[in-house]
Amino acid sequence: MKIQLGCIADDFTGATDLANNLVRSGMRVVQTIGVPAGPLAADVHAVVVALKSRTIPAAEAIAQSLDALKWLQAQGHNGQSPQIYFKYCSTFDSTPEGNIGPVTEALMDALGTDFTIATPAFPDNGRTVFKGYLFAGNVLLNESGMQNHPLTPMTDANLVRVMQAQTKRKVGLIDYKTVTQGETAIRARIAALRAEGVGVAVVDATSNDDLHLLGPALKDMPLVTAGSGVAIGLPANFGLKPSLQASQLPAATGLQAVVSGSCSLATNAQVAHFKTTGRPAMVINPAALMHGQSDAVVQQVLAWAAPLLKDGPVLVYSTAEPDAVKAVQAQLGVAEAGALVEHALAAVARGLVDLGVKQLVVAGGETSGACVQALGIAQLQIGPQIDPGVPWCHAPSENGGVHITLKSGNFGTEDFFSKAFTVLA
Ligand code: ADP
Repeated sequence: MKIQLGCIADDFTGATDLANNLVRSGMRVVQTIGVPAGPLAADVHAVVVALKSRTIPAAEAIAQSLDALKWLQAQGHNGQSPQIYFKYCSTFDSTPEGNIGPVTEALMDALGTDFTIATPAFPDNGRTVFKGYLFAGNVLLNESGMQNHPLTPMTDANLVRVMQAQTKRKVGLIDYKTVTQGETAIRARIAALRAEGVGVAVVDATSNDDLHLLGPALKDMPLVTAGSGVAIGLPANFGLKPSLQASQLPAATGLQAVVSGSCSLATNAQVAHFKTTGRPAMVINPAALMHGQSDAVVQQVLAWAAPLLKDGPVLVYSTAEPDAVKAVQAQLGVAEAGALVEHALAAVARGLVDLGVKQLVVAGGETSGACVQALGIAQLQIGPQIDPGVPWCHAPSENGGVHITLKSGNFGTEDFFSKAFTVLA
């Protein structure tokens, strides 16, 4: 099958967020981990290639994005490029050097197009753009805490200025007055901006209605750049409507387990809630993994889990309260503690799958990356949403594959670890 929409995401959980929005609007979607080596095997409308290019040097981000573009173009209809969607964070995470501007420019050059849009608006998540200014919740971006981000401090909420600092192309604005008038007005504004030599237009959107008004005006635009919000207005351009079929996965089989390495507030509450259901839970203490003891601990955990799995899901977690995490970090170092725990949890995930687990919940962004790698997963078919931003996925393999959900830190309701299996059933 040839794809209609090809997406390039600058990080892993952001890719899943975009894929989830596309599925909810009627597209069947596969997410790939990096640029695949071979052609696409699945029958889908869209592919999201997940890169890790948000904070790497701009030249590398450009090279990876162009690789992804080339692969996506090869998956289009009759040699025609599918529409391309460059996805970045809804807080426009970037530095004055990029990478949003440089990657956008490189994709425009490669696609031979002189115009695209840029908008991180995602009203469902409180990200709105008004007169070119990005709000996170009720405050401007530069008052939201993002001004203190360790890697990509955002000190200016004016996206026209922020984007202009990163690109040689002229940046303009399609403001809310135009957007609320709909497709014809938006197209007229685009024509006027183009005539002024503008190459990239920031677009206002304060509600999902705005994004649905914007969608039709983006039909036939070779390149769209945005957060995940704009995705809700695109599938309709291909004649698609929300449908149960879009999120259909193969029937779930096998045993169930949860592996949790996130120490966020939400995940701590989810671990506590799971314990109240009476199902077994085993903690992994990072200090016990030191001095080459990791393999032995993993084997103990798997021996504990093996006889329990037939009765329902088990939980293996390193999730801890902030004080405990700080103490471990002081003892081992932040990076070393993280790597030790990620490695052990990934080995546990691998061992659980070998024991017959085919429905796996993973909590934590970095933890998810480690588990997906340990399981050798290269592609994920996106299925039904459990909670906003967190869908079930299916990773095919010779033995029928596994159902897996990757929950980033603060997502999900308190009962997520049990609810997830109910949603799948
Ligand atoms: P989140 O999505 O909540 O940020 P991540 O998995 O991305 O979760 O990050 C959590 C990090 O904390 C991982 O590197 C993980 O290995 C590490 N970690 C997990 N449990 C502990 C613990 N008890 N003490 C110290 N570090 C931990």
